[in-house]
Amino acid sequence: MWGPSCWSFSDVRVITRSASSAAHQKVCVVGGGPAGFYTAQHLLKACQDVQVDIYERLPVPFGLVRFGVAPDHPEVKNVISTFTQTAHHARCCYYGNVNVGTDVSVEELREAYHAVVLSYGAEGNRSMGVPGEDLEGVYPAKDFVGWYNGLPSNRELNPGLDCETAVILGQGNVALDVARILLSPIDELKKTDITQRSLDALAQSQVRRVLIVGRRGPLQIAGTIKELREMVNLPDTKPEMVASEFEGMAEALKVIPRPRKRLTELMLKTAVDPPAEKERQRRQAASRSWGLRFLRSPLEVLAGPDGARVAGIRLAVNRLEGTGDGSVAVPTGEVETMDCGLVITSIGYKSLPIDPAVPFDPRKAIVPNSLGRVQQAAGLYCSGWLKTGPVGVIATTMNNSFDTAHSVVEDLTSGCLDATSAKPGSTGIGPLLDKRGVKPVSFSDWEKINQEERRRGAAQGKPREKLLDVEEMLKTART
Ligand code: FAD
Repeated sequence: MWGPSCWSFSDVRVITRSASSAAHQKVCVVGGGPAGFYTAQHLLKACQDVQVDIYERLPVPFGLVRFGVAPDHPEVKNVISTFTQTAHHARCCYYGNVNVGTDVSVEELREAYHAVVLSYGAEGNRSMGVPGEDLEGVYPAKDFVGWYNGLPSNRELNPGLDCETAVILGQGNVALDVARILLSPIDELKKTDITQRSLDALAQSQVRRVLIVGRRGPLQIAGTIKELREMVNLPDTKPEMVASEFEGMAEALKVIPRPRKRLTELMLKTAVDPPAEKERQRRQAASRSWGLRFLRSPLEVLAGPDGARVAGIRLAVNRLEGTGDGSVAVPTGEVETMDCGLVITSIGYKSLPIDPAVPFDPRKAIVPNSLGRVQQAAGLYCSGWLKTGPVGVIATTMNNSFDTAHSVVEDLTSGCLDATSAKPGSTGIGPLLDKRGVKPVSFSDWEKINQEERRRGAAQGKPREKLLDVEEMLKTART
């Protein structure tokens, strides 16, 4: 059944929601990640006459909270309880397993709803654009993270971990997450919701040294202090820094603003200060190491003797022009090579167009918008990483999604959008999907998947063991 009641695989369990039948304004959100849920939350709160439907490509909700956030950061995932409350709201419906742009077009959604908010994130990778990038053993961080977090499309990645040194290109929090997962003691990871498959692979890993390389200097590092401190305190590891890369930093500390100042102090202390006795002993006993390397840009990924697998990376040595965040890395002409058997590129995500009818800026890789209103497309909005580009944490995404929802409410109430004409909402979309053989997953269906994952996790002493296969998710949802 579609429309006022949320559709479910077993019609027996369909819950009739009287409040939703009273809602005249129909809004849908495309994408069930933080942006989608926060947009829905604000719309439902600000507007008593709105029904919000969330269409999500995968059967399972929550986007990068499930597939991006590191498994050893469970506290970050607490936002899921707020999203769950939103999904249970009487005027909200979740339709998982609906790939917008393929199963239903944005134009069809615009016909059926007064407003459509695109919140489908940034699922593409930025590439380095250097030779050797496609060699075996080179992975975008997005895929590597997806692999250990159970993203169905990355479940077969099986990254080769039979080498001593891994190089991560990029120095943001994702790079630090990846470094930490590569070097964490297995007993620590065992307690998390990391997939058993990747846990088994990491238990066999030969990686003992991780170098995290950035094109600019210590004052431009994009990671934050929490993640850096976790590296500094990681059991059985020692830092392997190059003290000369921090020359002049003590002077710079006097003028830089606070969050960056604390981060720089921590780097300086780790790289330059002689460790206290206890720390010295800890470092001496460590079997693994990690280090930051600055002012280096990739020129070429080098193959080993078989011509297929990565054996090193050639880097251009840079100098900085300008100061602070706006400084630019300029090649000095000097080149150096780092030996490594694994390269992970953590140089950013990018949004992709999902429907030719939607304006898209290929340079910025976002949907061009003004306060979330898609330019030259009345009734079409965007929020989250699709709106801003892949920057910021969940709280940033929350704020920009609330702003978009505010624009929608403003347009619905000001008469900018004709909300007086009746729109069918999901009752118009359901038959289209039925005809195309697409069977959505309701939120209560997701809760069955959730239950099964928790059951499997409990059997292994973990919070959950994620289902890795979409077919298995659908089967579990249908039981
Ligand atoms: P997403 O989270 O990507 O959600 C987009 C959703 O849209 C997905 O569920 C996707 O399946 C769906 N979708 C895609 N295409 C379609 C389609 N065609 N039809 C329907 N649905 C579709 N922030 C923190 O605060 N703390 C952290 O620890 C943290 N860790 C992170 C780790 C990684 C590896 C990454 C990449 C990000 C991390 N972030 C973290 C940032 C945070 O995840 C983002 O701010 C946030 O997820 C962006 O939300 P979004 O909804 O725009 O995108």
